[in-house]
Amino acid sequence: MKIGVVALQGAVTEHLTALSVLGAEAIPVKEANQLRELDGLVLPGGESTAIRRLMDAAQLREHLQLFSREKPVFGTCAGLILLAKEVIGEEAHIGTMNVVVERNSFGRQIDSFITDVTVQERKIPAVFIRAPHIQSVGNNVEVLATVGDRIVLARDGHLLGCAFHPELTEDRYIFELFLEMVKKSASARLASHENVL
Ligand code: GLN
Repeated sequence: MKIGVVALQGAVTEHLTALSVLGAEAIPVKEANQLRELDGLVLPGGESTAIRRLMDAAQLREHLQLFSREKPVFGTCAGLILLAKEVIGEEAHIGTMNVVVERNSFGRQIDSFITDVTVQERKIPAVFIRAPHIQSVGNNVEVLATVGDRIVLARDGHLLGCAFHPELTEDRYIFELFLEMVKKSASARLASHENVL
């Protein structure tokens, strides 16, 4: 499996490492022509306004929109903000995941915290750094984890969005979840391709 990590700003290396540890071929992506060869893509955390600016400068946004309509994308923190169909108080960015997101919902950098969240009956550590939360989800979007009454992990078909930073802990469960989605999506594409032939 070949997974790209959008490498414009933010926690790029940590995602490349987490994916490699699980046996995926992980490559940093800076240009649209790299997307064609990928089975899935990660949009890392960082600063969504800065990533958006760099994305526009690299003429990547439309390509990421097309990619995310077809293949699995995992957005963490700022990456979730970029993926969301609606961002409270500002214009959406890629806008393909059917969730409404609010930025900086857990306070400032100094208020960063780590807590356990339960995902599919499994307890995992979650690091929150100036994190957003998912205020509401559209039909067919699965809520996978909450902190209090706030949604922090959700899946919209082949799109996964996470408010915290799974790349900063040793627990790889969320990445395993994403790689399962990539595998499933690749075999579904292969099957529909074979039906055409
Ligand atoms: N607060 C950042 C933003 O709005 C996201 C923080 C993060 O990715 N850790 O883009």
